[in-house]
Amino acid sequence: MRLLSFEHDGRPTVGLLVGSDVVLPLRNAGGEPPFDPDSMLALIAAGAQGLAWLRSHSTGPTVSLRGLRLLAPIPRPTKNVFCVGWNYLEHFKEGEKNRPAPVDLPEHPVFFTKAPTSVNGPYDAIPYDGAVTEKLDWEVELGVVIGKRGRNIAERDALDYVWGYTVINDVTGRDLQRRHGNQWFKGKSLDGCAPMGPWIATADEIDPSDLHLICRVNGVVKQDSSTRYMYFRIPRLIEELSLGMTLEPGDIIATGTPAGVGHARTPPEFLRPTDVLETEIEGLGVLRNRIG
Ligand code: MG
Repeated sequence: MRLLSFEHDGRPTVGLLVGSDVVLPLRNAGGEPPFDPDSMLALIAAGAQGLAWLRSHSTGPTVSLRGLRLLAPIPRPTKNVFCVGWNYLEHFKEGEKNRPAPVDLPEHPVFFTKAPTSVNGPYDAIPYDGAVTEKLDWEVELGVVIGKRGRNIAERDALDYVWGYTVINDVTGRDLQRRHGNQWFKGKSLDGCAPMGPWIATADEIDPSDLHLICRVNGVVKQDSSTRYMYFRIPRLIEELSLGMTLEPGDIIATGTPAGVGHARTPPEFLRPTDVLETEIEGLGVLRNRIG
C-alpha cells in the first residue's frame, strides 16, 4: 500500500493511493478506524492493527491525486530525521579531494540528523538565501520509516521494525557543513532541505536491497545508482542506531547518498534559484522541487 499526506481544509490528512492517480482519504473509508485518520504518525503507531484495518476498509469516496497538495508523508516528525553519511563507497571516495586530511573508511556507520523543520513536501519549493549558503547541494536517498518501538534490535530482526520506504533528498549547505567542524547538523538542517515522499510504500511491497536511485537537476542526471551499493545495509544501520537508543514508530532514517553530488564534481556545481531538483527511486516515486 502507498500512503500519503495531503492538505485538507488547511490541515494534513492521510490518503491511500489507489492505482496511479486516485486517492482514498482515510476519513472517507468508513467505520471507526483504530487511529486518527488525519495523522500518518497515528496510522504508523497503530502497527499491524492499523494496516489490517486499512486492508478491510479500502473503499469509499475517492479524490483525484492531481487536485491535491501533497505534504511530506510525515509532515512533522516527532524528532530529528536520522541520517547516514558515507554509505556508498564511490561517494566516500569522490569527497576525498575536498577533505583537509585523509579519513579512513568507517568501521561503523556515520550518523547525524536533520532538524524536523527541514522536512519539506514532495513538490514544494526549497528556500534559497544566498546570504545563508551559496553551496546548496543534492543527495538522493532511500528513506526508511520505523514502525515498531525497539532498542538493541538485532540485525536479523531489523526489517521487522520497518513500516515502509520513501524518497528523501538530503539537501545540504556544503559551506555550512564544513564550517562547523566534524559535525554536520547545521549544514544539513536548513528549512525545507529534506523534501520527502511523494508517499510511503509499505514494507510488504518493497525489496530495499536493489532499488534504482536517480537525481536530476533541470532534467540532467547527476546521480544514478542502486541501493545494492550501500556499504552498511539497512539491517546493520538499524542494529547500530538502536544500540542503547530506542527507535519509535514514525522515526525516519535517510540511508546515505551515492556518488554524483555537486561539490565533488569538476568543476563543482550547486543549486541556483529556479533550478528544478528531481529525486527518484524506481518503484517508490519522484520528488520535484524548485529552488527558491
Ligand atoms: Mg546524505
